[in-house]
Amino acid sequence: MNVALRSAPSIVAAQPVDPLDHLAAHLFHPLGADGVYARTALYEGIVDKLAALISRHREAGTEVMRFPPVMSRAQLEKSGYLKSFPNLLGCVCGLHGTEQDINAAVSRFDAGGDWTTSLSPADLVLSPAACYPVYPIAASRGPLPAGGLRFDVAADCFRREPSKHLDRLQSFRMREYVCIGAPADVAAFRERWMVKAQAIARDLGLAFRVDTASDPFFGRVGRMKAISQQQQALKFELLVPLRSEESPTACMSFNYHREHFGVTWGIDDADGAPAHTGCVAFGMDRLAVALFATHGIDTSAWPASVREVLALD
Ligand code: AMP
Ligand code: ZN
Repeated sequence: MNVALRSAPSIVAAQPVDPLDHLAAHLFHPLGADGVYARTALYEGIVDKLAALISRHREAGTEVMRFPPVMSRAQLEKSGYLKSFPNLLGCVCGLHGTEQDINAAVSRFDAGGDWTTSLSPADLVLSPAACYPVYPIAASRGPLPAGGLRFDVAADCFRREPSKHLDRLQSFRMREYVCIGAPADVAAFRERWMVKAQAIARDLGLAFRVDTASDPFFGRVGRMKAISQQQQALKFELLVPLRSEESPTACMSFNYHREHFGVTWGIDDADGAPAHTGCVAFGMDRLAVALFATHGIDTSAWPASVREVLALD
């Protein structure tokens, strides 16, 4: 008697394939944690060219600063981060006890136990955005000149939002232009950059739209903050449809903080009123992923105009 061989019905639902997954092997090497990747030369070459393109658009009179991936915990606390995004913050901790305490923790680990219960927080956090450290620096310089100040900043940023999606990393690069000045200075700055940034996206051959947005404020009170931010149009995003028009990826943001940082850090504008601030943020990794998703992994086959604007040889 023949027994018909049938494949057993699968009890494990197949992993849905994300439309960006095919890029992974060309752009990243796994490092054992979701959203934390080593980058290939192909990928990093494009990130460098993007950075140079953004630098070419820098406005005259903009001061350049580069920040490390960590910042003062006290400064971030004072900035109000814990009121808005406590769930995203990464804090540096260490073994701060006596030699005996530290040896005990290591021995516990050697015996298969948990050494991390001996950790305590350090005075550092992982920077969640590139612009936080610039406000106390500006404050230390006294009242603002007429017209305000502009900065070009960048940092490796961390947000505790692990995901398998290539456009949602835990460790990613952020580049920002920041304006600190009177309300009119900041409004004009943001308007200029919303125009310039769209020209950059167009030059890069990316499909996009710009829309009002809100930050992912934590919890129930956070949902009210997000609604208020939307209503006041304090945040816009440049959205690239990497998967679909309905759930696009924010590759740049245009933020108006009103007087929040001016009051927090005691920065006065040239008229003696609390300074207003705003920033335009470029998600360097998201922009690079967007370019590969749009034009493919063979950069020699990218449109000539895109190759030219990026100065690809
Ligand atoms: P935001 O401060 O949230 O407006 O972030 C500024 C920019 O950083 C965004 O427009 C993104 O391009 C980028 N970004 C934010 N979160 C992530 C993430 N988890 N992975 C990669 N890029 C990110
Ligand atoms: Zn910013």
